[in-house]
Amino acid sequence: MNRQPIGLYLHIPFCRGDKCPYCDFYSLPFEEDLADAYTTALIRAMEDHPFGSLQADTVYFGGGTPTLLGEKRLDALLQAAVRSFGLPRDSEITLEANPESVTRELLQSLRLSGFTRVSVGVQSGVDTELAALGRPHTAAQARQAILWAHQAGFAHISADLMLAIPGQSEESLKQSTSFLTSLPVDHISAYLLKIEEGTPYHQKRRELPLPDEDATADCYLLCAGLLEVAGLPRYEISNFARPGGQCRHNLKYWRCQPYLGLGPAAHSYLQREDSRQGRRCFFAKDLQVFVKADNPYTLLQEEGEGGSEEERLMLALRLTEGFDANTLENPLGKGSLLCKARELASHGLCQIQGETVSLTGDGMLVSNGVTLALLEALEVG
Ligand code: SF4
Repeated sequence: MNRQPIGLYLHIPFCRGDKCPYCDFYSLPFEEDLADAYTTALIRAMEDHPFGSLQADTVYFGGGTPTLLGEKRLDALLQAAVRSFGLPRDSEITLEANPESVTRELLQSLRLSGFTRVSVGVQSGVDTELAALGRPHTAAQARQAILWAHQAGFAHISADLMLAIPGQSEESLKQSTSFLTSLPVDHISAYLLKIEEGTPYHQKRRELPLPDEDATADCYLLCAGLLEVAGLPRYEISNFARPGGQCRHNLKYWRCQPYLGLGPAAHSYLQREDSRQGRRCFFAKDLQVFVKADNPYTLLQEEGEGGSEEERLMLALRLTEGFDANTLENPLGKGSLLCKARELASHGLCQIQGETVSLTGDGMLVSNGVTLALLEALEVG
């Protein structure tokens, strides 16, 4: 097996002062000096990486709110990635952006720097829902940001849409969906709001008008159906795209392909040469330690082995392309998996094409249970 190009993830852990009340991602309030020091540390981490001649063909600037870094720092980071990971011309280079944090000029300048894709944190097309989420932007600002990105020449624009927001109704979800599909986006990530421990939302969870389990499932099905009709079929449980609009970087995660994540809280999967397997590791959530380290790679913490058959199956079942049972080494495991898949298919929860198993729409709704049943079958085999 040849060494394949990796995905490079750069974590930009800065946000505005007030965090969104539902968010438990690692991020700090933006400060100019800290942003300079962090940019320098990330560039050094790219230039001094100890992994030999790694090539990347996707780069993802995630956060946090990466656009807070501004054009000079973002350009410097991207040029360092080009120098250190030899990005080919057709590489996908994504930047996460929040609507209130971009201007027309910033987007034009980033396009000229070489960014190819913007992922906009829209969340809702309804202002009252955005206020309930504590987001600092309006729907009009989100529309403007997407139009500016389109005018700047970004061929690929993604929008995040949040489901199961407090107070969200069938009508308001339809409004948000048609708001997004009327804009020049070729990708939508539709995630269920999760109430994470330790967040302000968690503290007041009993007062929030959150939908129950059935209403949440209805919400997901409605959204998936509307996006499909609008020409953005699902390709992953939470991700929908027009043809050619799938996120190449995120596909690497689900296809269990290698990626290197740099920055505090960033995770990596580093495959061994000539093997499907490799190691998973991560940087601790501490920006100061990362910035001060002479060699940040000494900070990498081991998470364990990656790329096992079980893990590949679990990740692939998130994708509509599914899991190719021919990639299993143990014929007993393959037989047992296909046998269980046929049983689940008779209940409409999965489908089998050739020897590829994938979940149906109904199966995706109960993906944890279906995946567990298939994993158990694989282990029995
Ligand atoms: S902008 Fe994103 S990362 Fe920052 S606090 Fe809000 S949800 Fe979290």
